[in-house]
Amino acid sequence: MHEPRVPHLRGGDPDIARLVEDEARRQFEKVRLIASENYVSPAVLEATGSVLTNKYSEGYAGRRYYEGQQNVDPLEELAIDRAKTLFGVEHANVQPYSGSPANLAVYMAFLRPGDTVMGLSLPMGGHLTHGWSVSATGAWFRPVRYEVRADTGRVDMDQVRDLALKERPKLIWCGGTAVPRTIDFPAFAEIAREAGAVLAADVAHIAGLIAGGAHPSPAGHADVITTTTHKTLRGPRGAMIMSTAEHAKAIDKAVFPGLQGGPHNHTTAAIAVALREAAQPDFGAYARRIVANAKALAAALVERGYDLVSGGTDNHLILIDLTNKGVAGKPAAKALDRAGIELNHNAVPFDPRKPFDPSGLRLGTAAITTRGLTEERMPQIAAWLDEVVQAVAKGDEDAVAERVAAEIRELLAGYPMPGWAPAG
Ligand SMILES: *Cc1c(COP(=O)(O)O)cnc(C)c1O
Repeated sequence: MHEPRVPHLRGGDPDIARLVEDEARRQFEKVRLIASENYVSPAVLEATGSVLTNKYSEGYAGRRYYEGQQNVDPLEELAIDRAKTLFGVEHANVQPYSGSPANLAVYMAFLRPGDTVMGLSLPMGGHLTHGWSVSATGAWFRPVRYEVRADTGRVDMDQVRDLALKERPKLIWCGGTAVPRTIDFPAFAEIAREAGAVLAADVAHIAGLIAGGAHPSPAGHADVITTTTHKTLRGPRGAMIMSTAEHAKAIDKAVFPGLQGGPHNHTTAAIAVALREAAQPDFGAYARRIVANAKALAAALVERGYDLVSGGTDNHLILIDLTNKGVAGKPAAKALDRAGIELNHNAVPFDPRKPFDPSGLRLGTAAITTRGLTEERMPQIAAWLDEVVQAVAKGDEDAVAERVAAEIRELLAGYPMPGWAPAG
């Protein structure tokens, strides 16, 4: 049963209601290890489903283009104040529709087409919007890319410095989508200062860990901080851009009118709710449990002979290189999904395979930690994963996948899911 209830949807549009219900059950029954996903609270769901979706409010509080902002203005200001307090920043913009538009707004604020941008290479763990070729950010700007070291799997700060001083980018990104290790914000800040570049920290994956004190903060180091609100931060689909007071105007102008129209006020409300949740003391405990779970899962995988990029993790994320198991990432991910373990295939650094059929798997522990799974369960998850991968290597995964999926359903029945519970 969906919580909040959806009786009007069930009565008026049973086709969509069925798909919503089936998706909720799917989320209930699977070990969800996609590193960018989570389960939001019923309060976040309620705010997202509220009448705020009916309202247009282009502009910013006190400076809107439409009337009727008596409630939207204080709502957006509350969200901004909560972001500023939680992350210790001077300015926050909560209007970006999602992480990619937020990052594009940073280019709009500081760069002109053709200017140089520097970011972590995509197959090394960077994000498309950090100047990868198929992204507008790689097509409209001049990208230069730093990498991780082959021997350590970690970002090579010497290379970052050499490249920055040689190429003189206007903008340097740190952060990424598949970075299992702590980001050295002070070191990046030093390099950006030397090179005369704006430093943008994209903390989309780790924002919840930062809010909960389980990862160092870029505040006070980066000029600009972008983040999605829906990954470890456990809010609705959305994003924020935070900065020093110096850059506030440029950021706000870039988001609106530079790139976007009306903000999604229902999302703003849900972001505010999530930020309040993340400011509670128990969120710090949640953030530490995410990391403890990731470390325990990583250790159990290493024990089973899995080759982890950088040898382990400091955060919520694990990157497995499957090469030594004789299986590619995609068939492994597909079989694991059938077995009730949901994750994604991923490139690993220096991947000899093609991007759509890479060598690795990416896992994260934010969602399973929200479900209440603790460290003692991680060896079991590693054992299930290993059984399925071994079966794929033998080309005989059907029976194993079916049995593991049933075992996982049985385990997860004891771990409540925010937003849905089985009927009865
Ligand atoms: C997820 C992510 C984004 C993009 O967010 P979307 O909401 O999917 O557009 C940007 N940067 C990083 C580092 C991310 O992990």
